[in-house]
Amino acid sequence: MSFNMDDIFSDAKRYVGIVGEKTGSAVEYSRKQVSRVQLRVQFREKLTELGRLCYDMHEQNIDRTGEMKKLIEEMEDIEATIKEAENAVGVAKVCPLCGTKNKASNAYCSKCGERLDR
Ligand SMILES: [Zn+2]
Repeated sequence: MSFNMDDIFSDAKRYVGIVGEKTGSAVEYSRKQVSRVQLRVQFREKLTELGRLCYDMHEQNIDRTGEMKKLIEEMEDIEATIKEAENAVGVAKVCPLCGTKNKASNAYCSKCGERLDR
């Protein structure tokens, strides 16, 4: 299994929680959260493809480095877009314990200290 389903579900949970707030900015925020989920799915699909190319290259002794480089560049673009989305909303991690919105860069909740897993 190449997907980290926990990550996807935790994003989905955040989305559901945020939609409940019903304010304009919260709706905007949740939209960005959803697009981040989609971007992460895209990223993982490319990661899987990258792994397959690497495996093929090894098993069949065919040079796939050109395709691999292209994939890595696409993945870097996706990463940059995710970062942009995180910066645009200013907060990207909602504490699972107390619901405080934390900065994307925070590893722990600024209010209660709970670990903010990605
Ligand atoms: Zn907290």
